[in-house]
Amino acid sequence: MVHVGIGYDVHQLVAGRKLILGGVEIPHTKGLDGHSDADVLMHAICDAILGALGEVDIGHFFPNTDPRWKGAPSKVFLREAARQAGFRGAKIVNVDATLIAQEPKIFPHIKEMKINIAAALEVHVNKIGIKATTNEHLGFLGREEGMAAMAVASVDLPE
Ligand code: MG
Repeated sequence: MVHVGIGYDVHQLVAGRKLILGGVEIPHTKGLDGHSDADVLMHAICDAILGALGEVDIGHFFPNTDPRWKGAPSKVFLREAARQAGFRGAKIVNVDATLIAQEPKIFPHIKEMKINIAAALEVHVNKIGIKATTNEHLGFLGREEGMAAMAVASVDLPE
């Protein structure tokens, strides 16, 4: 039976942080703030997979109060989501995500993001969809105060 999950995440953009999206370090004037590497795209995908499994969100697995996850690469969290699927005999069918970022240009990095995400989830890269859009200069995303990501995942679970 195929189950679908949804994920959403936001992180604030601040000076003095690396910008990591989909496991790719992207040259930019600001980076996303957070306890881990603040990879908003990977976090949304984690929650989509966990949601499809009927699980709690990624913050319960990796609390932002735990020093072990300070600066952690978010592929660790994706691997955990895939491991949770594995425990249930579930197979990740596909993932699709949209990153909302006013700047910088995301498109040149999408192929590498897909490769990173597919590797962490141990699925073929053609199972991963990544798109990006600006927020048309509207709101906090448009003012470049933060970035957001939303994702869906479908997971084939045994009955
Ligand atoms: Mg997050």
